[in-house]
Amino acid sequence: MKILMIGAHQDDNEFRCGGLADKYVKLGYEVKFLSLCNGCGGHHVMSPQETTARRAKESAAVAEFLGITYDVWDIDDCNIVADLATRKRLIRYIREFNPDLIISHRPNDYHADHRAAGQLVQDASYLLTVPNECPDVPAMRYMPVIMYYEDGFKNPDFSGDIVLDMDEEIDVKLKIADLNVSQVYEWLPYTYGEQDEVPTDAAERFEWLKGMQITADTTDEEVMSKTRGYAVRFAKTAARFRKELIERYGVERGSKIRYAEAFEVCEYGNPLTEELKKEFFPF
Ligand SMILES: [Zn+2]
Repeated sequence: MKILMIGAHQDDNEFRCGGLADKYVKLGYEVKFLSLCNGCGGHHVMSPQETTARRAKESAAVAEFLGITYDVWDIDDCNIVADLATRKRLIRYIREFNPDLIISHRPNDYHADHRAAGQLVQDASYLLTVPNECPDVPAMRYMPVIMYYEDGFKNPDFSGDIVLDMDEEIDVKLKIADLNVSQVYEWLPYTYGEQDEVPTDAAERFEWLKGMQITADTTDEEVMSKTRGYAVRFAKTAARFRKELIERYGVERGSKIRYAEAFEVCEYGNPLTEELKKEFFPF
């Protein structure tokens, strides 16, 4: 199986499906991350050129850690447009990799880049199979299955069609966040006005990154009441989709899962049949 995860930025795939990527690598599936943007906008001190170079190194570290390949396109942050040229570029790119499953953003989101990325994937979907569109790269015979990763937007609400236990992946997910140093310890704290709170010691700042220690006794209400930290963020997905976790894993396991990742089916891709569900989500 080949899996293509398409984020607008170099942290979208990481934070929203990094655990699933790790599970796929362990299954022997081939995983590729694509970031449409180059990361140039994500810093308050470094220049765009310095930021792009630093983000490239951080993404390379994530790729090495996960055992995946990782492409970063040259579009500047906040500049993705779902235009014809970018659509054709994406069609060619997807065909060349020939994935079975694509995971990307929903096209309703606060960030213009996320919306455009989701729109581009939708716009490419059917055309992947049309030979006279971009005829220089052979068309795919079948559309891949396409899914969206979780967001919190309500109009329309995100549907947790597939919600997966990530308890075994939590250390991997937190380590991925930790590797994005310029983001999680510099830029994002700056945007939240928290830059003075970040510890300088590497071990201390990693604890700070988590936000809180989540134990077997931590309730969903406690998790949902916290506002910061990556352990909290990943635990919120389990709390939000508790009903779906219990449906999938049964009451005993489902009610104890601490961390999860959630995915919605995009109706423009190949249908996610029961047979394909077993291949993509045998966890
Ligand atoms: Zn993003």
